[in-house]
Order: sequence, then structure tokens, then C-alpha cells
Amino acid sequence: MEKKNIDWGNLSFAYQPIDYRYIATWKDGVWSEGTMSDDPTVQMNECAGVLHYCQEVFEGLKAYTTKDGSIVTFRPDLNAKRMADSARRLEMPVFPEERFLEALDAFVRANAAWVPPYGSGATLYVRPYMYASGPMVAVKPAPEFTFRMIGMPVGPYFKGGAKPITIRVCDYDRAAPRGTGNIKAGLNYAMSMHAQMEAHREGFDENMYLDPETRSFVEETGGANFLFVTKDGELVTPASDSILPSVTRRSLTYVAEKYLGLKVTQRKVAVSELADFAECGVCGTAAVICPVGKVVDHGKEICFPAGMEKPGPITQKLYDTLTGIQMGDIEAPEGWIRKIV
Ligand SMILES: *Cc1c(COP(=O)(O)O)cnc(C)c1O
Repeated sequence: MEKKNIDWGNLSFAYQPIDYRYIATWKDGVWSEGTMSDDPTVQMNECAGVLHYCQEVFEGLKAYTTKDGSIVTFRPDLNAKRMADSARRLEMPVFPEERFLEALDAFVRANAAWVPPYGSGATLYVRPYMYASGPMVAVKPAPEFTFRMIGMPVGPYFKGGAKPITIRVCDYDRAAPRGTGNIKAGLNYAMSMHAQMEAHREGFDENMYLDPETRSFVEETGGANFLFVTKDGELVTPASDSILPSVTRRSLTYVAEKYLGLKVTQRKVAVSELADFAECGVCGTAAVICPVGKVVDHGKEICFPAGMEKPGPITQKLYDTLTGIQMGDIEAPEGWIRKIV
């Protein structure tokens, strides 16, 4: 298989159509057999449910080329399961988890020429999503749904090393108590755009959302979970029912405990204790970990000792170990790597 002629070292995180996308549709209680299409456009009815009531869920994961030339995906079973959970919460049909994995294998195999080579730092970002494609106007689940899996080669989120970012404590909420904060749905992102742009206009990179019930505990940013390191080297992650269960966060906490020998705790994290932490980062598939240098809480600056120049030592070690596992340089825990080619 000949790789595409792309400047792999200079890719950004941006859409680009690739050769194939996988498509399956649901109607009358049954999923169609999936097909691979070379058409990047979608045609649908003007009254499709997704356009009116936002019945849509999605996932994000990556395919990597390892040193020995294999192509692998990282813990895709967790994405399959999370997408099923998201679908159930929005009264959408579940795309069977086993079929999700088979579709992913077929999709990556068909697009193998687009999976960046080992050492380039780039990866193939895969975006599975499902939406109400059938027409409806009364508020109820749509009569027809479409599952689609698209992808694009993307560069490392941070070229030339990760620069710590500045985050503000946000006055908007990302999720409601007992709402949909714990599922991966486009509607949560639609809500976050205004807060995101406002943060940018005020000179911040991201928002720190607080728990919507008491507004005193840390939740997450618009699209990444928080990690904190205490001055004793303990890794702390916020506990809350309205945080999206990040695959990266669940993997990093395992790596911290089993590979780096750190103590790991998941508990409520009060905004008032932020100044006690030594390091802070946010994590997700796209960036793995992005270090946070400063949190600004209504004018009050909380500067983490790790500073604004480079990630803190534990943040860096976590990043190196997890990306080493993903790229096949460090032995992975049983079941984390799904070999495709
Ligand atoms: C996708 C997402 C994350 C990160 O999850 P990963 O599985 O690690 O990519 C975090 N927060 C929100 C709101 C998300 O949608």
C-alpha cells in the first residue's frame, strides 16, 4: 500500500476528505449492512430530526502506525460502548458495539494510505457519528438514523512541545445537573460555543466549567477532562456525574498508577483548593494532555508552580508514557491495542 503524498509533519487539526467513509442506516428496527462510500457529501430531508432537535451523538479516536509498520487503534471498545450509552440517553438506536469495531477495522483498512507513518507525530483521527436522518416535526425519536464514520489525518496537537494554556473559571454551565453532560453529543458543544468565543475574546484559551448545582466544584472544559497533581505527587481527577468519561483520562489514571507508581484519587475538587496543586492539565484524544499554567477565577490568578513555559514533570511523564503505549514503543496493558493491519 502506497501512502498518500502528504507533508505529514505539517498537518493541523482540520477537516480534509479522505477516500472512504463507512455508512449504515437504521429503519424499522434494523441496521442496514454497512457500505463504504467515496462521496463526502450528505443528502437528507429538510425535516431530518438532527436539523431540528439535535438528535446526534459522536465519538473520536485515532489510528496509529507503530514502529513495526502495523496500523492500530487505541481502546476502540470504550468508544463503541460510550457511543451506545450516548445513543440510549437520546433515545436513538444503538449501533451494536461489535459492529462498531468491525466497521472501524474496515474503515481504517480501506483508508490505510491516509494513516500517517510512524515517527511523523501525525495520526488518523476517526470520527464516528450517528444522527436522526429521517423526517419528523412532532417531538419524538426520528423514524430513521444514519451511522457514519469519517476520518482525516491530523498533526500532533502541539508542534514543538506543549505550551501551557490559561483557563478562566466560566460563569456559564456546560451541563445541567442530571442532564446530558456525561454523554458525547453535539448538543453539549452547541451550548459551549458562546462561552468558548467569549473566553477567547477575553484572552483565555479555555473555560473551566463548575458543577451546575453548587458552582463550587471543578467539572471539565468544553471538550477535555481535568487532571491535577498534588505537591506530594498524587494524581487527582474530579468526580461528577456530569463529566464526560474521557478515554484518555481513564487511560492516564491507569498509567499513573500501574506504570508510574503514583497514587490516584477521583474525588470532588473544590475551586477553592486549586492553588494547592503543583500541576494541572486537561486531557482528550486530540491533544492527549494539554498543560494548564494558569487558572483565572474572576480576576484572581492561580498560577501552578510548573509555570507557563513547559508542562510540569508528572504531566510530561504521563504524556510520554501514554503516547509511547499508543505508538507501540511501550508495552500496552492487555486489550488496549487493536491491531488492524
Ligand atoms: C470527547 C470529550 C472529552 C475527551 O474524551 P476522550 O475519550 O479522552 O477523547 C472530554 N470532554 C468532553 C466534553 C468530550 O466531549
